[in-house]
Amino acid sequence: MRKLASRITALQPSPTLSVGEKARKLKAQGKKLVDLSIGEPDFDTPAHIKKACIEALEKGFTHYTSSKGIIELREAISKYYKQYFHVDVNPNSEVIVTPGSKFSLYAAIQCLVDSGDEVILLTPAWPTYWQCVESAGGRVVEVNCGDSFKLNEEALKRAITGKSKVILFCSPNNPTGGVLGRDELKVISDLAVDHDLYVVSDEIYRMLVYDGEKPFTMLCFNELRDRLVVVDGFSKAYAMTGWRLGFTIAPKEVIDGMDKIQQNITTCPSSFVQYAGVVALLGDQSCVDLMVKEYDNRRRLLVRELNSIEGIRCPTPRGAFYVFPDLSKISSNSIELADKLLDYGVVTVPGSAFGSGGEGHLRLSYATSIDEIRRGVEIIKRFVMDSLGKH
Ligand code: PMP
Repeated sequence: MRKLASRITALQPSPTLSVGEKARKLKAQGKKLVDLSIGEPDFDTPAHIKKACIEALEKGFTHYTSSKGIIELREAISKYYKQYFHVDVNPNSEVIVTPGSKFSLYAAIQCLVDSGDEVILLTPAWPTYWQCVESAGGRVVEVNCGDSFKLNEEALKRAITGKSKVILFCSPNNPTGGVLGRDELKVISDLAVDHDLYVVSDEIYRMLVYDGEKPFTMLCFNELRDRLVVVDGFSKAYAMTGWRLGFTIAPKEVIDGMDKIQQNITTCPSSFVQYAGVVALLGDQSCVDLMVKEYDNRRRLLVRELNSIEGIRCPTPRGAFYVFPDLSKISSNSIELADKLLDYGVVTVPGSAFGSGGEGHLRLSYATSIDEIRRGVEIIKRFVMDSLGKH
C-alpha cells in the first residue's frame, strides 16, 4: 500500500486558514456571512509601495536575486532599525529577506531545533508554531499567559529544563492582541541569557499598538543579540499579505543556516517585490499611522460592544487586530461556539486552536469595516441571548 511520509501525515493544516476557506465556500453557496476570522489587513497596499513595484518591473528587475535578498533591501532594513530603534544591524551578515515571515519562522526553527529539543511557547499562540517545532522533531512546552497575555514568570522558570533550546513568543500577540511590557520582555531576555537559550521573537504586529504603547523590538536588549532571532515582515504594517515578503534579523550563523534552506527551497523572494519593500521601509510612514488609527477606532468599538453583552468578558487588547473574548459562560467548547456562530452567520476562530489559555474563547478580528463589526456584534448578541434563553 502506497502511503505518504509520516512527517506529512503528522503536519496539521492551519486552523485559521481552514476557517477562512470554509467561510469562502459558504459565501460562494450564497450564505450571508460576517467574517471576523480574517488574519490580514482589509486596507489596500499604499499607492507609493505599489508604484515602486511597477517601476521595478518596468526596469526589468525580474530575475533571481541574491538568496539573502537584494542588498538595497537589507540596507534599508538596517537603516530603518537604526533610525527607529537605534540598533545596529549588519546588512551583510545579520539579515535575510524571505517570502513571508511564515517562511522565516519555519527556516529559523529548522536551524535551531534538533530532535528532542524543547521549545517554550508563550500561549495562547498562533497554531503554526506547533507545526514548525514538531516538524523539526522538537516538542512544544506551553506557558499559559492567559487571555490578557501577561507573562507568568514563575511558570516560565518552571518550564525551563535541560532540554530547553528556544523561547518563542509573539508580542503584540495573535490571538489575544496582548502586548508584553518592557519589564516582562526583560525577564524573558535575562532567563534566556542565564539558561543559554535562543529567543525567537515574532514581531510581525510590532507597529500595530494602541493606548500610547510604543513599537518595540527585542533587538533593543543588546545582551540578547547573539541568541536572538527576530521574525518580521511587511504583511501587517503595510497591508502587504499577498506580496509574500518578510525578513529575519539574527546572528550570522542563524542567517547563514536560513540562507542554505532558502537557496534549496525557493532561491530568493520575488525580485520586484523586494524593491517595493525598500520604499515601504524608507518612504513616508504616515500610511501606517492612518491604518493604526482606524484599527484603534474599531478596537474600541468592538471591545465596548462585546463587553455590553451579558455572558461575554472581553479584555482590552493593546496591539495587533484581534480581540479574544471569554465566552465560557455560554460554552466551554470553543469549536462548538464557533460552529454555532457560523450557523448564525458570523465567522470566528475557536480559541482552542491557540493552545493553553484558549479554550472557552473565540478570536475575532477587527481587520474589517466598522459596519461589518456592528453587524457581527448584533448577530453575536442574538446568539448569546438565545443560548442563555433570554429574550
Ligand atoms: N506571525 C504571526 C503571529 C501571524 O499572525 C502571521 C500571519 N497570520 C505571520 C507570522 C505570517 O505573516 P507573513 O504574511 O509575513 O507570512
